[in-house]
Amino acid sequence: MSKSKSSESVKVVVRCRPMNEKERDAKFGRVVAVDVKLGQILVRNPKEASASDHPKVFTFDSVYDWNSKQIDLYDETFRPLVDSVLLGFNGTIFAYGQTGTGKTYTMEGVRNDIERRGVIPNSFEHVFTHISRSQNQQYLVRASYLEIYQEEIKDLLSKDQTRRLELRERPDTGVYVKDLSSFVTKSVREIEHVMNVGNQNRSVGATNMNEHSSRSHAIFVITVECSELDDDGENHIRVGKLNLVDLAGSERQTKTGAQGERLKEATKINLSLSALGNVISALVDGRSSHIPYRDSKLTRLLQDSLGGNARTVMVANIGPASYNVEETLTTLRYSNRAKNIKNKPRINEDPKDALLREFQEEIARLKEQLEKRSGKKKKRRQRRRAGEGSDGEDLEDGEMEDDDEEGDDKGDWREQQEKLERERKAIMEDHSLVAEEKVLLLKEKEKKMEDLKKERDAGEMLAAKVKAMESKLLVGGKNIVDHTNEQQKTLELRRQEIAEQKRREREMQQQMDNRDEETLELKETYSSLQQEVDIKTKKLKKLFAKLQAVKAEIHDIQEAHINERQELEQTQNELTRDLKLKHLIIENFIPLEEKNKIVNRAYFDEEDEYWKTRPITRIEDDHQMMSRPLSAVGYRRPLSHHAHTAMMMRPDMRYKAENIMVLDMDLPARTTKEYQEPVIAPKVAAALESALRDEDEIQVDASGLHSSLGSTLPTGASLKKPKSGRPRTGKKSSTPTSPFSPSSPGSPLYPQSRGLVPK
Ligand code: ADP
Ligand code: MG
Repeated sequence: MSKSKSSESVKVVVRCRPMNEKERDAKFGRVVAVDVKLGQILVRNPKEASASDHPKVFTFDSVYDWNSKQIDLYDETFRPLVDSVLLGFNGTIFAYGQTGTGKTYTMEGVRNDIERRGVIPNSFEHVFTHISRSQNQQYLVRASYLEIYQEEIKDLLSKDQTRRLELRERPDTGVYVKDLSSFVTKSVREIEHVMNVGNQNRSVGATNMNEHSSRSHAIFVITVECSELDDDGENHIRVGKLNLVDLAGSERQTKTGAQGERLKEATKINLSLSALGNVISALVDGRSSHIPYRDSKLTRLLQDSLGGNARTVMVANIGPASYNVEETLTTLRYSNRAKNIKNKPRINEDPKDALLREFQEEIARLKEQLEKRSGKKKKRRQRRRAGEGSDGEDLEDGEMEDDDEEGDDKGDWREQQEKLERERKAIMEDHSLVAEEKVLLLKEKEKKMEDLKKERDAGEMLAAKVKAMESKLLVGGKNIVDHTNEQQKTLELRRQEIAEQKRREREMQQQMDNRDEETLELKETYSSLQQEVDIKTKKLKKLFAKLQAVKAEIHDIQEAHINERQELEQTQNELTRDLKLKHLIIENFIPLEEKNKIVNRAYFDEEDEYWKTRPITRIEDDHQMMSRPLSAVGYRRPLSHHAHTAMMMRPDMRYKAENIMVLDMDLPARTTKEYQEPVIAPKVAAALESALRDEDEIQVDASGLHSSLGSTLPTGASLKKPKSGRPRTGKKSSTPTSPFSPSSPGSPLYPQSRGLVPK
């Protein structure tokens, strides 16, 4: 799949826009100087005292000042990239920078003005001109347009602008946007139309277009597929993909004071950009094995463009005025880091998902079908003619075969129609037939005519389809013609040569500068002590200045880092506060049981990056819904388990087809308890036991009584207790136990409580 394995750096260019009217009116100072020859940007920070002596210097692959022309940028920087896309490489152009510094101007520019149109329209022209000049190659060009806003992907070419698309990943082709529409385009005009439709959709959704475009990323994608026969006659397809990215404004979105939705919005807007920064840092760092591509939609989608299989150009746009100096420095530092990213571009040869191959196969299939049809017709005609006898038509047959297919087809069709018409007339005029028979025969003939017509229509449709598909495959000089004349072509070539010359000059200049420093060190022989002191002082001064610059840079970066951290902490605090409120609501208003149920069902979908809930399951471990009974094979209705067994047991059983559900008894939970004896203290238990003892067992010492009662009692009569165990004290009023018995006047004789009678 690869032709070139070598790695190459991301190319970074900087463009500084002119002062605008407002800035000129307000008389803002210019703090940016652009050294086009050396490829350097010099920034003086007016807030720093030493700034006038030591401006901050940044070196890039090339730099463009306020006088730069769109076409210069294109010829020097973008044309080589688009050329490699036409060869089958992936290419990406990013425009990065603060809002209002010219990102959209660089990417799109003024569409209808040839002088001021940007990279995107210029690349259209470039791609189609290239194809029109190509030879023995087939091309298929298609375009897509999408937007990322608040971490949601919108297809700018789809009819339904409310729909949000998802990212998917395939092991062979990598990350892609699922269901993203793409349009096959045959000319500059068509692809321009695609872009216009997308731009209109983009502005329709936004209430304030400027604000919206500063908060969203727009990506225009051109895919160029090219098929060519190699020396062995084998067909090879190369696919190049060009991403043209107009990023959101790099300035920080204000988050202070924002809460809830507004806060979330503000945090999401810059997410993709800060993720891009993190990816760049991780790539450049070299120590980190993990590159956080997955942190945002933008970095995932453009994974290949950053450290992968693509050629990448980053355009950093800056403004020249003093009030923008902080943002300008941030932009320059950001893009300065990106210079060190290494990509490994390679030609994408014969990928599985090439649309061109599908097209070619489909065309071949349709053509085969067409051929079969015409083959059938010819055979039919030959058969018919043979049947018609020898009226000399056979001789003409050979000539007819040589006719072009269409004429042949038409003649055949007319001939058959005429024949049917003749037959129809013959039937009408045939008086030997009964009316009913006539109608029948006529109907049959009419049906035949209709079938014939249908078949012809189908054939025509097939041919039209083949034609339409073939017209989409562009072949240089055939269905796409180059209209530029020789003079223009020479002019173009000259321009490209000049651009190349400029680039080489700049590179040489940069190299020379580096050498200068080196040679200074090499000049070790001095003619006098004074000269040595002079040279060394000069060197020292230079190195000291360098040291100061590096120190200042470290200080700046540390400060920027602290600011960023503080901001992140603040966001974290605000989000935590938000989360606490949600917790409070959940704890107070959602029953714990319900909450747990949802927690158990919830899972995080890595693909869609959303929390989702599983469907409710009846069976705990099996994550499937209980299946419904299927319609039994051979029966008309679904059968219940009962019916099944009933039929198996006895074929003539009653109600065998009834859908009776066999259910287990649903036993209710028991709500009563077994009786349990109360626990009684041992003392009480003993007392009770003796109290309940049978009176027979009670021995009463009644000797004293005997003597006092005297003869009133029959001798030998013992104190017999009544039969019942109950004391009958009350009823024995006549007995000497009466309290008022004469035997003991004054001291009534109370019976002693039985239980307490000492033994
Ligand atoms: P951004 O997309 O970065 O927010 P724009 O591309 O919308 O910025 O540019 C803001 C304004 O500045 C526009 O009116 C544009 O025409 C103008 N502008 C930007 N760059 C240039 C340039 N190099 N030359 C002339 N005008 C420019
Ligand atoms: Mg813009």
